[in-house]
Amino acid sequence: MASRDTETPSRTAAFLEREERLGAHNYHPLPIVVSRAQGVYVWDVDGRRYLDCLAAYSAVNQGHCHPRITAALREQAERVTLVSRAFHNDQLGHLYEVLTDMTGFSRVLPMNTGAEAVETAIKAARKWGYTRKGIDRDRAEIVVFDGNFHGRTTAIVGFSSEPQYRDGFGPFPAGFRRVPFGDATAVAAAITKSTCALLVEPIQGEAGIVVPPAGFLRELRTICDRERVLLMVDEIQSGLGRTGRMFCYEHDGVRPDVLILGKALSGGVYPVSAMLADAAVMDVFRPGDHGSTYGGNPLGAAVAVAALQVLVEEHMVENAAALGAHAFERLARLRSPHVKEVRGKGLWIGIELHARAGGARRFCEQLMLRGVLCKETHEHVIRLAPPLVITREQLDEVLTAIETVLRA
Ligand SMILES: *Cc1c(COP(=O)(O)O)cnc(C)c1O
Repeated sequence: MASRDTETPSRTAAFLEREERLGAHNYHPLPIVVSRAQGVYVWDVDGRRYLDCLAAYSAVNQGHCHPRITAALREQAERVTLVSRAFHNDQLGHLYEVLTDMTGFSRVLPMNTGAEAVETAIKAARKWGYTRKGIDRDRAEIVVFDGNFHGRTTAIVGFSSEPQYRDGFGPFPAGFRRVPFGDATAVAAAITKSTCALLVEPIQGEAGIVVPPAGFLRELRTICDRERVLLMVDEIQSGLGRTGRMFCYEHDGVRPDVLILGKALSGGVYPVSAMLADAAVMDVFRPGDHGSTYGGNPLGAAVAVAALQVLVEEHMVENAAALGAHAFERLARLRSPHVKEVRGKGLWIGIELHARAGGARRFCEQLMLRGVLCKETHEHVIRLAPPLVITREQLDEVLTAIETVLRA
């Protein structure tokens, strides 16, 4: 792994200066400017190589620039890229087939970004509530959780518990009720005759890889069945192999009513998201109820098919399970004055530091100097989520770097 020589004249500085001057300041990235990537590695404009342990928040589970996914992109780009849903295209049906085979759900609604797929699920749940459950007009409620992250639209940030995501952006739509994550009793108490759905991440990613008590989803399933409420699982970050199963809900042996996918659905190549459900829910949508100009376009569909195929055919999910177990085993032996807790599943690992450690960012900066890219989440958690194509040798290099900076 390349180590960083601070004496070298740097092209990075000029890129950083231009972005700072011309761009909106809605992010605070680590000071690295990537110009090329392959597999688990990215290279910056000064030619330094890093092992990417963020994987674009699990959008590049399949590794950067996977040759089969980029080939699908190139081939489809030369045929047809967009006709809008005013016409059919010859790629979308194939994506429907692959997704329904993989999940067992009978219907797919394609969108582009994760937030749009969540919005789609919210609309489906509400309309199901009015037309199937008989909830009074405009009274439908959805139960959500403290610490949730489902995207950045105004409706979604309106039910966030994170003050910064909300402050200055109201007013927000009504109809959401928030309860503590992991607390099934609080969920049961929050349900009324107007509740149409629960919206949950099986593991909360942005909140700091927060794992609920074992069996939590199963308890939610029981409550939803009893109360006739839809269980909607946001697997945008937890799904598609990240936790060592294709979908994180499989660990609990449950099946949700609505599945929301994004991020790795297109392997980081092109934005594709989807909401999946059976006909009883999905058929609430009539022509004209919902849509998106780019949603379901043939370029995105071809890319997503390739992204799903390589996940399965190249055994990336099994690799995540095996190497995840190895990583947890090594991290359990880590002796560090800074570490409060190590948690997660598969290749999705949160290392929570004590408040006195001075924040996770300085450790991420030290890791960057050692050629490992991690991103802190919620100030005190180092998030480790490499592409699922990582080898045991590469993972061991990462773990050694982490042990070194955390021991100091
Ligand atoms: C990233 C993420 C989203 C939002 O996806 P975007 O593509 O950024 O809109 C929603 N839910 C979860 C769990 C996510 O991790």
